[in-house]
Amino acid sequence: MKPPCSLLLLDLDGTVYTDGKALPGVIDCLEHLRAAGVPLLFLSNTTTKSAAVIHRALGEMGLALPRESIRTATLAARDTLLEKGLRRVRALLRTEAHADLAPLELVEADAEVEERPEAVLVGDMGAAWNYRMLDLAFRDLMAGSRLVACQRNRYFQQEGGLKLDAGPFVRLLEDAADQQALLVGKPASAFFLAAARGALGKETRRALSAGEVYMVGDDLENDVLGAQACGIRGVQVRTGKFRPADEDRAQREAHLVLDSLTDLKRHFT
Ligand SMILES: [Mg+2]
Repeated sequence: MKPPCSLLLLDLDGTVYTDGKALPGVIDCLEHLRAAGVPLLFLSNTTTKSAAVIHRALGEMGLALPRESIRTATLAARDTLLEKGLRRVRALLRTEAHADLAPLELVEADAEVEERPEAVLVGDMGAAWNYRMLDLAFRDLMAGSRLVACQRNRYFQQEGGLKLDAGPFVRLLEDAADQQALLVGKPASAFFLAAARGALGKETRRALSAGEVYMVGDDLENDVLGAQACGIRGVQVRTGKFRPADEDRAQREAHLVLDSLTDLKRHFT
């Protein structure tokens, strides 16, 4: 008998696509799962694109989804900052993601300002990182701004190999200002649980304790173990950033290890 699945949470980069191209067979598999009644929700730590751009890209790959099916670390940052009443924010985030931070009042990464922002928000700036913006953020933090991290991934996979992600920059600021960042993206439990509650409502607790909520990703630490820490079943895929060195730990700790997302078709339907 196939295991019941009330909600399937999915990572995007390295799991569904790499460098903007769908991995072989993945779109067919997702369409198949959706047609079989498995609810899909995408959870991404990407901070270099808005949810609208990701939504459009998935549509162009052949996967038409409701816009609310995509939850990013940037959207989680917006919600958390608003909840905490931190509205004026220095955004160490590429401008492509700024649309998802409305209605926060943003201070540009390299802007010198008289009045310090209430928070410093860190995402992936890629090649735009420079000393000036890190130094300005450091000074805000020393003056009392709250450090908030969209994610703290060490690296990501791109054509040509692994690339430095936002995590090392978050750690740099934590170290310099002696302040622990508030993490809002994966692997924070709040990120997974907010997504599950948004999709399942009152059913959430029951579905979690019955083991009917799954999270699939290529990152053992952030996707698989992060999800498992709040009662979600973690599925490791051997695509994207997965390396043979991760195999032993994945076999020991993940609920399931698959070569690719396409193997889920066999698993659930
Ligand atoms: Mg990934």
